[in-house]
Amino acid sequence: AAKQAGRNCWHFYEAFMLQDTYEKMMLTNGLRRALEREELFLHYQPQFTMTGDIVGFEALLRWNSAEFGLVSPDRFIPLAEQSGLILPIGKWVLQEACRFARRLADMEKENVHIAVNISPRQLIADDFVDTVCDTIKKAGIKPGQIEFEITESALIESMEDSAIKLEELRHMGVTLALDDFGTGYSSLTYLMSLPVGTLKIDKSFMDKITDGREQLQLVGSIINLGHTLGLVIVAEGVETENQLELLLKIGCDHIQGYVFSQPIPEEEAITFIFPRII
Ligand code: C2E
Ligand code: MG
Ligand code: MG
Ligand code: MG
Repeated sequence: AAKQAGRNCWHFYEAFMLQDTYEKMMLTNGLRRALEREELFLHYQPQFTMTGDIVGFEALLRWNSAEFGLVSPDRFIPLAEQSGLILPIGKWVLQEACRFARRLADMEKENVHIAVNISPRQLIADDFVDTVCDTIKKAGIKPGQIEFEITESALIESMEDSAIKLEELRHMGVTLALDDFGTGYSSLTYLMSLPVGTLKIDKSFMDKITDGREQLQLVGSIINLGHTLGLVIVAEGVETENQLELLLKIGCDHIQGYVFSQPIPEEEAITFIFPRII
């Protein structure tokens, strides 16, 4: 009977795996057409100083599929990475972000940066630096209007090659943020050997800072370490006033999270900067 149960279990597992593989294949095929079908768009999440001034927006990709409806980036970005589709999609994201940055510059808001997430596959590509240069030039914006967000895991794959490319971009004037800090290897080596200007402390830390003294002190230590290295500290995924107050106390520089705003469409983002126009 036990053997029988084990077999059933296996069949269940196998079916489950096949279903997941099938779903991934369907989604990847859908994603292949998403660009030409104009199913992709960006939302922008404002980033604030502790006193409530907007310093930038993070561009976050959205996919509204005709077949599957709204698909979460946590689901489709990994598929785009595995299939290589992140290369054309990533180029499109950068173009869109630069177009928005141009719009902001036209409204004399070129000090408000646009943060763009970059996947390992994009960074590894030979034409990455050239593509970035071209896109920024064509949009007619200053490189300083664009910030790249890279995760630590993106860097371990090809540390030296990445460091050279990021150094070139930094030299141009593009700024660099280390995303989801604290979830990966968090090696000091990355922080010291890369031209990072900003540290984004992961949401998982924010979820815990109201739990007790230790968790808060831990985040406080990260902030102090970052400041010692001359970095700007952004807290990600801040949802409550309580968290906000604590972060202010421990010296955090910038805040991004639902407490101020969810990611929003471009037009809404514009009214966010010019509240009096509406
Ligand atoms: P991320 O870069 O760490 O982006 C932050 C994520 O946290 C976003 O999820 C954002 O909507 C969410 N978030 C922000 N504030 C809060 C909050 O207060 N509470 C909660 N619960 N969530 C909050 P999203 O938009 O689903 O994106 C997920 C991930 O997908 C991003 O994580 C990023 O790694 C990736 N991604 C999104 N757009 C792009 C893109 O254009 N290119 C690449 N390569 N990756 C992207
Ligand atoms: Mg990010
Ligand atoms: Mg993040
Ligand atoms: Mg993330």
